[in-house]
Amino acid sequence: MSHLIRKSVQAMSGYVPGEQPKDAGIVKLNTNENPYLPSPDVQDILSMIDIAVLSRYPDPVCMELRKVIAELHGCAVENVFVGNGSDEVLALCIRSFVERDGSVGYFDPSYSLYPVLADIEDVEKRPVSLDAAYGWQMPADYSASLFFLTNPNAPTSLRYAKADVEPFVDGFDGVVLIDEAYADFADENCMDLALGKNNVLVGRTLSKSYSLAGIRLGYCVGNAELIGAMFKIKDSYNVNYLTQEIARVAVLDQDTMKANVSAIVETREMVAEKLMELGLSVLKSQTNFLWVKPLGIKAKTLFEELRKKKIIVRYFGNDERTKDYLRVTVGTAPEMFKFLDAVEAIVNGGA
Ligand code: PMP
Repeated sequence: MSHLIRKSVQAMSGYVPGEQPKDAGIVKLNTNENPYLPSPDVQDILSMIDIAVLSRYPDPVCMELRKVIAELHGCAVENVFVGNGSDEVLALCIRSFVERDGSVGYFDPSYSLYPVLADIEDVEKRPVSLDAAYGWQMPADYSASLFFLTNPNAPTSLRYAKADVEPFVDGFDGVVLIDEAYADFADENCMDLALGKNNVLVGRTLSKSYSLAGIRLGYCVGNAELIGAMFKIKDSYNVNYLTQEIARVAVLDQDTMKANVSAIVETREMVAEKLMELGLSVLKSQTNFLWVKPLGIKAKTLFEELRKKKIIVRYFGNDERTKDYLRVTVGTAPEMFKFLDAVEAIVNGGA
């Protein structure tokens, strides 16, 4: 059989998404979803949709949704691309901007989908190792056709200053996609770089701050020529009708998104402080998750013990750079108190 499958596909490992357990009673803190409801306008639009429209193809260029996103960021619709989750946007960046003999760069550790997307296109990977404190220094003479700069970074939760990102993109020959999946939880973002520089795109998603991981909507903003290239190669109807409509009303309702983000940020700070009181080390998060290093107990053991208590967090155990940490999504305050009680019982030996 294997002769029927591309060699590069045989050789690659696929992306492993976090698990989505169905049993009730689980505290699910493993995939950086938002625990709060999306905008109530989403419920309204769903009840207003006439099912007759579903027999027609959706708008291939998502004009009404892109108008709303363009208005939000103060740019033209020609500067906005929307995709089936930002994962699709990232994949289309490689297909639009990287030649067969080109290369894709990203930080290590960072979002583990990037190397998988490069493998799918069978292009060279040029990861840049972060230092011990997950800080960022580009190697001398570094180049790549496309660089995925995750800011704030995942899974480390740290934000890089725009003052450092700007000189990097200015000196970089290829395209830089600043992946701002978590930017709504941060105190700074780089959106204005996308609108001011020819080689910069900023990617966003409705999966985190807008509580809409289930509809799959991501977008990027940037130079109209780059955006036009992505439109040329995308599937004709890459964003379905329901998603276009739900996303449109959700983006219009900035108040609900901001209120949910504030609640998460407040809970995040409370949980970080309590974990540090319990003797764990916690990085200064600018996201909706915490990057936590337990001391006196192995990360893997803590992960397994939490699981026994029906609390699921994310453990990236097969990498030296991440194996001593757990990534904990910030849930509701009651969920996080359950999590904190469980951590306390486990680290105090009462597991
Ligand atoms: N970028 C980063 C850094 C992420 O962590 C994620 C979520 N896994 C994504 C992109 C993908 O988001 P989406 O749900 O829009 O595909």
